[in-house]
Amino acid sequence: MKTYFAEILLPLAVPNSFTYRIPKNMEPYVHLGLRVVVPFGKQKILTGIVISIHETPPSAYVAKYIDSLLDDEAIVTPQQIQFWEWMAGYYLCNRGDILLAALPGGLRLASESKYILNPAFDGDLSRFNERECQLIEILSKREVLDSKEVSEALGIKSIQKTLKNLLEGEAILIMEDLKERYKPKLETYVKLSDGVNDEDGLEAAFKAVQSAARQEEALMMYIQLSNRYGDIIHEVKKTVLQKRANVTSSVVKDLVKKGIFELEEREVGRLPKVEEGKTEEVEFNEFQLKALTEIKSLFETKDTVLLHGITSSGKTEIYTHLIREQLDKGKQVLYILPEIALTTQMIQRLQRYFGNTVAVYHSKFNQNERVEIWNLVLKNDGERGSLILGARSAVFLPFSNLGLVIVDEEHETSFKQFEPAPRYHARDSAIVLASIHGAKTLLGSATPSYESVYNAKMGKYGYVTINERYGGMELPEITTASLSKKNAPTGYFTQELLKEIKGSLDLKEQVILFQNRRGYAPVLLCEMCGWSPECTRCDVTLTFHKSQDRLVCHYCGSKYQSPHLCAACGSHKLKLAGFGTERIEEEILIQFPDAKVARLDLDSTRTKYGYQKILSDFQDGFIDILIGTQMVTKGLDFGKVNLVGILNADLLLKFPDFRSTERGFQLMTQVAGRAGRRQKRGKVIIQSHDPQQWVIQQVVEGNYDAVAKKELGERRKFLYPPFARLIMLTFRHKQVELVDFTAASYHKELCAFIDEANVLGPEYPAVSRVKNRFNKHIIIKIDRKFNIATVKAKIHSLNNRFFSDKQFKEVRLIINVDPQ
Ligand SMILES: [Zn+2]
Ligand SMILES: [Zn+2]
Repeated sequence: MKTYFAEILLPLAVPNSFTYRIPKNMEPYVHLGLRVVVPFGKQKILTGIVISIHETPPSAYVAKYIDSLLDDEAIVTPQQIQFWEWMAGYYLCNRGDILLAALPGGLRLASESKYILNPAFDGDLSRFNERECQLIEILSKREVLDSKEVSEALGIKSIQKTLKNLLEGEAILIMEDLKERYKPKLETYVKLSDGVNDEDGLEAAFKAVQSAARQEEALMMYIQLSNRYGDIIHEVKKTVLQKRANVTSSVVKDLVKKGIFELEEREVGRLPKVEEGKTEEVEFNEFQLKALTEIKSLFETKDTVLLHGITSSGKTEIYTHLIREQLDKGKQVLYILPEIALTTQMIQRLQRYFGNTVAVYHSKFNQNERVEIWNLVLKNDGERGSLILGARSAVFLPFSNLGLVIVDEEHETSFKQFEPAPRYHARDSAIVLASIHGAKTLLGSATPSYESVYNAKMGKYGYVTINERYGGMELPEITTASLSKKNAPTGYFTQELLKEIKGSLDLKEQVILFQNRRGYAPVLLCEMCGWSPECTRCDVTLTFHKSQDRLVCHYCGSKYQSPHLCAACGSHKLKLAGFGTERIEEEILIQFPDAKVARLDLDSTRTKYGYQKILSDFQDGFIDILIGTQMVTKGLDFGKVNLVGILNADLLLKFPDFRSTERGFQLMTQVAGRAGRRQKRGKVIIQSHDPQQWVIQQVVEGNYDAVAKKELGERRKFLYPPFARLIMLTFRHKQVELVDFTAASYHKELCAFIDEANVLGPEYPAVSRVKNRFNKHIIIKIDRKFNIATVKAKIHSLNNRFFSDKQFKEVRLIINVDPQ
């Protein structure tokens, strides 16, 4: 008789899967993609995924039996298992790390989880069996139980099925879910009641509020904001109405009582129901149509096409057409974009075209919501969830029938996962995912990455350009201004910028100011001896944050009192050098005390909805000047921005990185694209100490190709991506000597099979000590013409051998393939 074994992938940060024996009575039911419960170690019970079935017993240990099956049907698709396998090999990471990243926590039951009664449980016990009812009873008395306690209380070992049924029946919750229970953002809209919504009714309504001046005010403002006598009726948010009419919430309430207004609460962020049949049609101009035709014909021979369209050239309309085609064929579509660009604005735009077919997936979702989306995609019933709009983690969803993947803003560095592993790049992974499904990939950007441009030039990708803006808009007029002492006495603003800001404010137009540094001042400096306070846990100078009156470390988050005296020489002559967004905000208010100013950076958007709130205030016209870090460059679409100021271009071009020029050009071009979106030509002013600088001049002329050509020449010469692949190895430990010794020894072994010229380091990065841990890098450059898989396999086996040595065991190795 044959004995069958299953390979089980467990959510643990270890390289291998584990082999378990399949009990005879389970044989007919065990198949790929199911969750199983298995004993692990001495105490633990874990859920894992069946990734293969075979007849080979493990050589290193005696296989234990699978304890039980959690599912009747697979919750992971064969394509996913293939995708994970690729990812582990390509990014040199643990399969378990991938499982942890991919599977929502709600689908992982582990013996460490704690369970509580669901406060929303309806009390109906009829749908549960006796054992399940028993546990509900116990939980209602004891409140919190971990798996071990559940097992003891019920007097059985196999508890996972009971827990799973109770979780699915919404009778209990896993603790972590409760902590981050999602509170949807509700937005209230005002509309006229049916009885009032004609001329007679309206007349009567005005009579009814004649003696109540505030109510009359609110009603008139509603008529104005809703554009009642215009072509298109606008929706009116309650908050906007109150602000514009300058009335309180109780005035609106009174109007509701009188039967004049009706209120409608709608969820924003999650998907409100969109009525079917209401979806809009897309209209194209000739340039879009031409691009669309080209993309379609290129897709006949290429799997990936790069769409290089300048800002506001209407790339989204092209996407929507291609999405529609796939949905009509019954295929699934994945549309990924940077987390930060996943705004309500973008979501609603796609809903207008695709109604309830769209589902959104991003990191702000809690476990329950992730499970919901996961199940929608898995079910793949051609309705909701056929189109997934998501951030990078959406590549992990259980697609089974993908037809198209769109990666918008493909140049964005935030597509690369940095911490923790797997350190994958969502764009590159999405291309592989698409190929597993035999699907096509469309990459879109106004400033494509040089990797993608190179692949296009080499014929690997199709390449399509649009050089005209949508709707007859002109590109903004870009000029430079010198930050010389004479022209910018304050050091923050040039004469030119101040004049233009004033002009914009006079015309009630909006302004965006871009300074890629948060906080108040990056350096506190002793004028006498040059001392600056540093973080005690990291080798980095501290940034002064005025609102908190603290010095903050941007690497570890530690906060310090600001000193009154120099710790070195004792002088009290400490001055703040340089400036961040916080200081700009203060300075702009000195120049324009009446302006309404807001700040968009990591500090002002800490809360879940902070970012959305600032954006919607800006959109609704409550903000005149928006000051921000690179957050303001991300694909936002505002109607009234006429001026963009880039406060210090030199700062953007000075990163000690081979991508410095690429990034600087991208950031400036992207933020410039926010200016003058509709009807009117916008203005952009780039402030610099050296306005004639070559890259800045190329931004002024919109000459992407010149910069790309020059940069690619340099990269070819010095062997950097896209001509080489990089692998960055970081050695980390709290003892600096051990880090040095380990890195040096590793370097020696590495150079046995890689040309020493292509191994950079070991060297300390600019900030070598973070949170009291020292980091040292080795960067390996692998020429494109070599087989990268072979080199990786060698590195992999070196790692296994090297780190099993006692003296290096304690050192942590972090592998980053294709670092950004
Ligand atoms: Zn620190
Ligand atoms: Zn001093």
